[in-house]
Amino acid sequence: MGEFTFELNEDQKQVRDWLHGFAADVMRPAAAEWDEREETPWPIIQEAAKLGIYSLDFYAQQFFDPTGLGIPMTMEELFWGDAGIALSIVGTGLAAVGVLANGTEEQIGTWVPQMYGDANDVKVAAFCSSEPDAGSDVASMRTRAVYDEARDEWVLNGTKTWATNGGIANVHVVVAVVDPELGSKGHASFIVPPNTPGLSQGQKFRKHGIRASHTAEVVLEDVRIPGHCLLGGKDKLDERLARAREKAKAGGERVKNAAMATFEASRPAVGAMAVGTARAAYEVALDYAKTRVQFGRPIIENQGVAFQLADMATRIDAARLLVWRASWMATTGKPFTSAEGSMSKLYASEVAKEVTAQAVQILGGNGYTREYPVERMHRDAAIYTIFEGTSEIQRLVISRTIAK
Ligand SMILES: Cc1cc2nc3c(=O)[nH]c(=O)nc-3n(C[C@H](O)[C@H](O)[C@H](O)COP(=O)(O)OP(=O)(O)OC[C@H]3O[C@@H](n4cnc5c(N)ncnc54)[C@H](O)[C@@H]3O)c2cc1C
Repeated sequence: MGEFTFELNEDQKQVRDWLHGFAADVMRPAAAEWDEREETPWPIIQEAAKLGIYSLDFYAQQFFDPTGLGIPMTMEELFWGDAGIALSIVGTGLAAVGVLANGTEEQIGTWVPQMYGDANDVKVAAFCSSEPDAGSDVASMRTRAVYDEARDEWVLNGTKTWATNGGIANVHVVVAVVDPELGSKGHASFIVPPNTPGLSQGQKFRKHGIRASHTAEVVLEDVRIPGHCLLGGKDKLDERLARAREKAKAGGERVKNAAMATFEASRPAVGAMAVGTARAAYEVALDYAKTRVQFGRPIIENQGVAFQLADMATRIDAARLLVWRASWMATTGKPFTSAEGSMSKLYASEVAKEVTAQAVQILGGNGYTREYPVERMHRDAAIYTIFEGTSEIQRLVISRTIAK
């Protein structure tokens, strides 16, 4: 068990510096190009794979870091480099976590390596939960999974949307309804193996920011997958459904949603991404303010500018502390009695949006152009208050938790 600390240990500092080098030397110089191309930056993922940054081993090491700081530190550095490219690199990890959380040892061993491929032939993975009519309201999901007992196969039908890496992934993790009476308790997660007939990419979205990350619809038409692709296995699912049915009967009402309950524990990782983008924009603004001269002196010598930078620095540190605390709590099994995971994501994502906007302002006209990176960072930052539960949903979770 890790003690809570404000300091990274020596190993972590080494990893952080190594990631920072990659972020500064490989990601930053490529960021504007991939943002314009709006395509998955395969050569950069490949480079990350060669260095060991894009690999199951690396993510497992950070995920199981007993201090809880491995993942937030990794996210902050990579997203400091560039948010779109970083999401292309860590998107697979988010899908892998779905398997690590619900899969059997055998499923983890079989599928997670296929999500990454290898350094010569890199692959990505997608986690598909959201649907056109089921965003925040996960319980209204309609994609169905029906068990064909005779063939020991599951048959999936439905349309997923907003899937990061959707359609270009080697392995898709798909959440589907197995019992519509049970709301979100009647959902289960499935692996759709590479090249399974019936799964296709729908519309690819053209986005405001994180444009180097591929986001698309995933259409499932009579997708047949073997029984062993149900994450956790059928016995566990049957037991879970039986328990949920008992509860639903006892309570007399449809088991409630929610997106609300979606992992408190995964939210600090998104908070850390936001901290990375905010820090990146702050640093550009700070440098600029020290060197841009107007009225005969650097603009930072105006309190109107300096105080903004002071607030930016303070809020970024506060966001990081909330993220680290929540991450440490998740790793050490502390109960989230005040929805601390949601708090960290809410605060850090709002800070990223505001700090990047302030950075644009401090750079003046230059801030508004694509000659300087803060314009992109500001567009990128807007995603953090939307995915993994919008800010409104975080507030809903926090308020319900403290109102209990
Ligand atoms: C770039 C990108 C990548 C994504 N990647 C993935 C992915 O890999 N896999 C995946 O499954 N999903 C992914 N998502 C989906 C994302 O999680 C959803 O967009 C998000 O959950 C919000 O759902 P929605 O877009 O349907 O908005 P809606 O739920 O329709 O919300 C619209 C607005 O209403 C507000 N609102 C809704 N309900 C309430 C309420 N009860 N109280 C107050 N306000 C409310 C929301 O906060 C929001 O402001 C991604 C989205 C984007 C944009």
